[in-house]
Amino acid sequence: MSSDVVRELTQILGPEKVVSDQHVIRLYAREPSGLEGHVKAVVFPESVEDASKVLRWAYHKEVYIYPQGSTTDLVGGAYPERPGIVVSTERMKKIKEVSVVDSIVVVEPGVRLWDLNVELARHGYMFPIDPGSVKVATVGGAVNTGAGGMRGARYGTMRDWVLGLTVVLADSEGSVLRLGCRTLKCRQGYDLVRLIVGSEGTLAFVAEAILKITPLPENVVVLLAFFPTLEDLVEAVIEVKKRAMDTLLMEFMDEDSARLAAETLGAEIKPDGHMLLMGVPVNKEASERVLGELVEIARRARARSIYTARSMAEAEDKKLLEIRRSLFATQAILTQRELKGRRAMMLMEDIAVPPSKLLEAVKALKELEREYGFKMVLGGHIGDGNLHPTISYPADDEEAKKRALEWYYKVMELAIDLGGTVSAEHGIGTLKKRALEMELRRHGSLKALELMRGIKKVFDPKGILNPGKVV
Ligand SMILES: Cc1cc2nc3c(=O)[nH]c(=O)nc-3n(C[C@H](O)[C@H](O)[C@H](O)COP(=O)(O)OP(=O)(O)OC[C@H]3O[C@@H](n4cnc5c(N)ncnc54)[C@H](O)[C@@H]3O)c2cc1C
Repeated sequence: MSSDVVRELTQILGPEKVVSDQHVIRLYAREPSGLEGHVKAVVFPESVEDASKVLRWAYHKEVYIYPQGSTTDLVGGAYPERPGIVVSTERMKKIKEVSVVDSIVVVEPGVRLWDLNVELARHGYMFPIDPGSVKVATVGGAVNTGAGGMRGARYGTMRDWVLGLTVVLADSEGSVLRLGCRTLKCRQGYDLVRLIVGSEGTLAFVAEAILKITPLPENVVVLLAFFPTLEDLVEAVIEVKKRAMDTLLMEFMDEDSARLAAETLGAEIKPDGHMLLMGVPVNKEASERVLGELVEIARRARARSIYTARSMAEAEDKKLLEIRRSLFATQAILTQRELKGRRAMMLMEDIAVPPSKLLEAVKALKELEREYGFKMVLGGHIGDGNLHPTISYPADDEEAKKRALEWYYKVMELAIDLGGTVSAEHGIGTLKKRALEMELRRHGSLKALELMRGIKKVFDPKGILNPGKVV
């Protein structure tokens, strides 16, 4: 069966776009949390037409299809849970057009967000969605998870930045649809573009995107401060908000996590409290004044130590952002240390609560850490209430797995209790399906799941696109 699949795909696409070597395709079966699935072959379309041929073939042969970018979504979204074909966007990475006059960029799905921003910076522009994984995350992956990132409090998520999509359907024709517009304002009946954003590869293959772009701020001043208590840190956050300061970055890490991250990075900065990282866009003339104001706010809130930068370049030079960026790596190192080489599974949460409930949420998370006995790394995007508590457990310990999953759901329940949500930006994938149901049930809106399943059937009548995910 597998050899038939490879032979047929090779006939359709040519041998250079199909890989079936077991050693290679296994790499496409895994994701960083430790989940591993089954791949029959990996195909590398180079155009919309290639993608259309693959989806048409898959429809007629009833073969499962898994669109894949860099496989970093952490919720089991891109891994092939059931045997099927991975459609990798690795060879669709052209930036086809940059138009600063129209404020858009037209890109293929395999373009990495970092590379996009390197190109846009040459024009004085940026694409503001910057997940921690920005150096590898692809446009296709970010569109499909509805990604956010460190600038989320100011710029929102992918939903706010996708104007148009070229998508391929898993139907008898492998139909190609061009949805949305090149203009900033656009009404085309029901908003199918935003339906596909965040659909996690379950509705269509995204073959091209028209994204909105924005000018780079003239300057950004940065402050990194460490506070003795969470209350002090939150006081500083509230003061910044009250003064209507327009923050670009507002990031948080708890004391233990910041210390561990700094240790493992070998950073010169020595965290001595709960960490708050803030960046405020300013014009050059206002830089000193705004930075002074940030320092004053941090001091009044009893910050123990304060580091500043007059520009983003200086902040990068002084490595002010590195500790926060290494949240996931810190958990990985902690895991290696604690599990001493045993295979580990990692559970990274992605809850969001209204920012006014952050203090309550962090305290409750600390309680859960004590109750369940897993060492938790905790950080997140405090500006928009998005927290990423993360734990790991030995993959071969069934009892630990049971307790870890219990913790996972307790954390999500907590988010719902506080008026928040179980997933802010990583998506539902396989790991959060039950949690999505829990959240909708709590809102008395379980019927929404039926609607979602109906929509899935309309787009993908045979259920072959990324099966078993989301709904
Ligand atoms: C260290 C680390 C930090 C992170 N920080 C953040 C963060 O700050 N904010 C955030 O939002 N996320 C974060 N993430 C999660 C993740 O990196 C992002 O969601 C990212 O945008 C996923 O991109 P990807 O290319 O890896 O997508 P993948 O993981 O490959 O795919 C994600 C989903 O999209 C689907 N998909 C991919 N390409 C296509 C396509 N062309 N057509 C249809 N479906 C497709 C897949 O099937 C899957 O369901 C982080 C992850 C890590 C490991």
